[in-house]
Amino acid sequence: MANLIAGSADDLSKLTGSKNYFNGLTIKTDASKFSNNSTKASLHWNKDTGEATLYINPAYNWKSNQKFALKDYEDGHHPTANPKDVITHELCHWLDFKGNPQRFGTTESAFSSGEKIYNDFGKSITAKVSAYATKSPAEFCAEYICGRINGLKFPNATNKEFLERWNGPILNFAD
Ligand SMILES: [Zn+2]
Repeated sequence: MANLIAGSADDLSKLTGSKNYFNGLTIKTDASKFSNNSTKASLHWNKDTGEATLYINPAYNWKSNQKFALKDYEDGHHPTANPKDVITHELCHWLDFKGNPQRFGTTESAFSSGEKIYNDFGKSITAKVSAYATKSPAEFCAEYICGRINGLKFPNATNKEFLERWNGPILNFAD
């Protein structure tokens, strides 16, 4: 699991050109933060303090992560079956959050409370990434990056939505 975190952080550091963006992120292993053993990891953030903790679920079967990554892909959660996606996704939330805690927090709260959702056009362009990406701008941005890291290409409207929503550092994708 530590290798997974290091691998994901490394992938993202290559895109930003710096490891410094992970300064300030607390990482803890704590089963009490999860209501089930299928959720693997979760970023808890506070938009007012700008602080966040990445919780890792020790009750999840990390040894079978590769198998579950394939299932997540088939279920439309992630755009690829890369086992690193689960951690890369959460680290992307961190970069997104840290870039503008207020904007990230306000948007996420509105989407998670159902006060705001993607309209039909928004759903159509975010669905190019994955079904889960249609849930909210933060989920879209995290999954979009997982896709791009794995070499996927998306339509212009999808790329534009990412640039408008992403609060994190500039990412220099390979293509
Ligand atoms: Zn997420």
